[in-house]
Amino acid sequence: MQAMNNTEIQEIYESQLAYKSVLKQCTVQQRTSWLRLLKSAILCKEERIKEALYKDFRKNPFETESTELLPVLLEINHFLKKLPRWMKPKKAALSLLFASTAAYTVFEPKGNTLIITPWNYPFQLPMVHLIASICAGNTVILKLSEFTPNINSIIEEIIGEVFERRHVAVVEGGVEETSYLLNLKFDHIHFTGSSKVGKIVMAAAAKHLADITLELGGKSPVFVDRNVELRDTVRNLIWAKFVNMGQTCIAPDYLLVDEQLKDALEKTLCEEMKAAFGDNPLQSIDLARIVNRQHFDRLKGYLDELRNGNASLIYGGNHDAEALFVHPTIVTDVPEDCALMQEEIFGPILPIRYYKHVEEALDFVNAKEKPLALYIFSKDKKYVSHVMQRTTAGGTTINDAMLHIMHPNLPFGGVNNSGIGQSTGYFGFKAFSHERSLLKASAIPMSKFFWYPFSANSRNIMK
Ligand code: NAD
Repeated sequence: MQAMNNTEIQEIYESQLAYKSVLKQCTVQQRTSWLRLLKSAILCKEERIKEALYKDFRKNPFETESTELLPVLLEINHFLKKLPRWMKPKKAALSLLFASTAAYTVFEPKGNTLIITPWNYPFQLPMVHLIASICAGNTVILKLSEFTPNINSIIEEIIGEVFERRHVAVVEGGVEETSYLLNLKFDHIHFTGSSKVGKIVMAAAAKHLADITLELGGKSPVFVDRNVELRDTVRNLIWAKFVNMGQTCIAPDYLLVDEQLKDALEKTLCEEMKAAFGDNPLQSIDLARIVNRQHFDRLKGYLDELRNGNASLIYGGNHDAEALFVHPTIVTDVPEDCALMQEEIFGPILPIRYYKHVEEALDFVNAKEKPLALYIFSKDKKYVSHVMQRTTAGGTTINDAMLHIMHPNLPFGGVNNSGIGQSTGYFGFKAFSHERSLLKASAIPMSKFFWYPFSANSRNIMK
C-alpha cells in the first residue's frame, strides 16, 4: 500500500464530507447490495488473505479462516438478515399521557466516521466495524495499523472494488497519519487499540464533541474453582491464551486458582501444552509469531524480569529473536509488582496466582482497572454467582473463554479503562446510528394543558 500524505487525506476527508448528505438517503437495498459485493470480494481473495496474514505474522491459514474470515462472513450474513428490521422506525411504548400521539425512534446515519484499528486481528476488526458503519449509512475512513502491510494491501484492494473513495477509503499509517485524522471533525470515531492511545483519541474527539466508541484492552482475569472439569478447562484456556500467539484483547491474562487444584492443574497444563505444541513449539506450524521486534522485546523483558526474580517456571520460558518467537510460557509465584502483573501481557505468557480463599482473588482483581473480559470456571453455581456479583467486566464467559465475542446477539465492549460503548451486530449498527426521537402529535393540541394563564393550570396538573 502506498503511504498517504496529508494533502491526500484531506482530499478524501472533504469528498466524504460532501457525500454524507447524499448517503443519508441510502435505502436498505443499497446497503445490503454493498454487503453482498463486499462478501464476494472477500471470498474471491480468501487464499490471498491467508497468505498475507502468514507473511505479516505467520498466522496459520486455518487460524485465519476461523478467527479472521469466519467472524466477518458471519457478521455480513447477520446484517443481511437483520438490517431491514433494524432500520425500521421503532414504536415507543404507549404512555397514557401521550395517548393521542404516535411516538417512534428512527435510526439515521451519524454522517462521516473514522475507524481506527490495531494490528492484532488486522482483517477481522476493520471489516466488522466497517460493516456496521456502512450499514448505518455513513462514510468511512478506515485507518489501518502500520504493522501489517500485507493484509492492508488486500483490504485496500477489496475496498477499492466495492466502494467509491468518497464513501469508504483506506489510510494506512502510524502516529503521524492518525494524529492528522484526529484533528479533523468526524461525527463518530470508532477506535480499537490500547487504553493509552484511547485517551488521546477521546481528547481529540472532545474538541469537536464527536461521538466515540473505544474498544480498548487491559488484563482479563480467569477464576478457576476447585470444582471444575479439569481437562476441558485446561484445553479451553490453552486455546484462548495461545491462539494468535496470545495477541488477543480478550485473551486470559492471568489465572486465579484455588490452591487445592495446584498439582493437578500444573500436571494437566503441561500434558496438554505438550500435546498441542509438541516438544519444540518453535517448530509448531500452528503458532503465529510476535508481530514485530518492539513487541518481542517487551515480552522478552517480562521473561528476563521473571528470571531475575523468584518466579517459578512451569512450562516454556525460551525465546528466539530471529524468529520473533516467544515460547508459550506458564509461570507462578510472580511478585505483584512485576511488569507482568501490572501491564496487559498481550503475548504467550500465562501467570498463575493461587488463592486460599476466593475473597483474596476478588480483592486482587478489584484493585485493578475494570477488565475487558473476565472468565469463571466452576461447576458450582454459588461460586459463579459470587464472582459475578463481586466483579465487573466488559463481558464474561463461564466455563469457557472468549466465546461471548462470537455470539451474534450479545454486545461487545469494555467498561471505563477497557472501553466505552459497544460494537458488533445490532449494537454496532446502533453505535454508528443516531437514534432520533419522533413524536407525531394529533389534532388535539397537547399544549392546551400548559396554556396561559399558568395560574389556572398549576393545581390541575399536580392532581
Ligand atoms: P495501539 O493503541 O498502539 O494502536 C492502535 C491504533 O492507534 C493503530 O492504528 C495505531 O497506528 C494508532 N496509534 C498508535 N499510537 C498512536 C498515537 N500516539 N496517536 C494516534 N494514534 C496512534 O494498539 P495496538 O498495539 O495496535 O493493539 C493492541 C491493543 O489493542 C491492546 O491493548 C489490545 O487489548 C487492544 N485491542 C482491543 C480490542 C477490542 O476490541 N477491545 C481488539 C483488539 C485489540
